[in-house]
Amino acid sequence: MIGFNKPYLTGNETLYIQQAVGLEKISGDGEFTRRCHRFFEAQYGFRKVLLTTSCTDALEMAALLTGIGPGDEVIMPSYTFVSTANAFVLRGARIVFADSGADNPNLDVATLEPLITPRTRAIVPVHYAGVACDMDGIMALARKYDLFVIEDAAQAIDSFYRSRPLGGIGHLAAFSFHETKNIMAGEGGLLVVNDERFVQRAEIIREKGTNRSAFFRGEVDKYGWVDVGSSFLPSDIIAAFLYAQLENLTNIQARRRQIWEWYGAGLAPLAAAGFLRLPHVPAFATNNAHMVYVVCRHAGEREGLINHLKANGIQAVFHYLSLHASPYYRDKHDGRPLPQSDHYSDCLVRLPMYYELTQDQVETITAAVAGYYATLRPR
Ligand SMILES: *Cc1c(COP(=O)(O)O)cnc(C)c1O
Repeated sequence: MIGFNKPYLTGNETLYIQQAVGLEKISGDGEFTRRCHRFFEAQYGFRKVLLTTSCTDALEMAALLTGIGPGDEVIMPSYTFVSTANAFVLRGARIVFADSGADNPNLDVATLEPLITPRTRAIVPVHYAGVACDMDGIMALARKYDLFVIEDAAQAIDSFYRSRPLGGIGHLAAFSFHETKNIMAGEGGLLVVNDERFVQRAEIIREKGTNRSAFFRGEVDKYGWVDVGSSFLPSDIIAAFLYAQLENLTNIQARRRQIWEWYGAGLAPLAAAGFLRLPHVPAFATNNAHMVYVVCRHAGEREGLINHLKANGIQAVFHYLSLHASPYYRDKHDGRPLPQSDHYSDCLVRLPMYYELTQDQVETITAAVAGYYATLRPR
């Protein structure tokens, strides 16, 4: 069986965990957390980064920082993970769902402006499969209407928009190190603070509403309760694991891109024949090889493909169900149809993608996909 995902250990994870334990400071913001922070700030030039226990938590911090609350509206794609929406729903905001583009699942910037009302406070672009949204278009709308932009960069590590790192463009951004992402720590995340106004308060919110971080830097002589907050910081054990992965970022990314090329070569003839669509990477974006997906022509064909692959020992999986049609939100949605989002919900299928996949395995998978289409009658 070729599984959909297999977490890759680079070798030093347990060594660094042992070192962290040996340092006898395994709560948050220890030595390995500092190393991870320095890595991100040096590698991508982010103004300020803070490790969190998950991307979900980083998004919740962003919602707190931007002061979004009851009566406010937040625009985001319907085709996304529940955490993108939950972070703002927890604060009492209303979600206004945007449709995806016809050529990739990212939100379609051309549809955004009519969704903006006097109550709109933020746009949350999701860089699906690590491929950038049209950030110039989004930032221009944000300036025009005085909105915050919070990038859901969960899948977007080491990916770029016009040479700028994703996560470094909006006011705030959130990354994930869940075990299904390119760089992982089991569970883990990162808040990126690009807007100077949020730097100090982000530290406070992450530390239960206290100015503990400033205290440990010697900036204040005692620490106390100065704001709302929660516990959003991970143990240094998580950071130690993550640091081992970060040291291997270049290698991991090179390998994943290679796997992506093998898939591309195997699937291109099927795309050319019109059987399926391959991911479209706009000229302004890079591909960080987070995900290999294909878009089938209709739901029945996708079901057939998934079953065919399963019968051949290959685990392929569909992805998000449109949030605007979810049991929790459908009654709260304003009723606009979002046909592209529904199309990806019905027709997108993800193929196995992980570091240890071999060229033989990728060829087995693409041959099995081709085998499925060979069983269909020509159109
Ligand atoms: C993985 C993912 C998340 C959630 O990340 P966690 O670290 O598991 O909280 C949020 N948004 C998107 C788009 C994701 O892919």
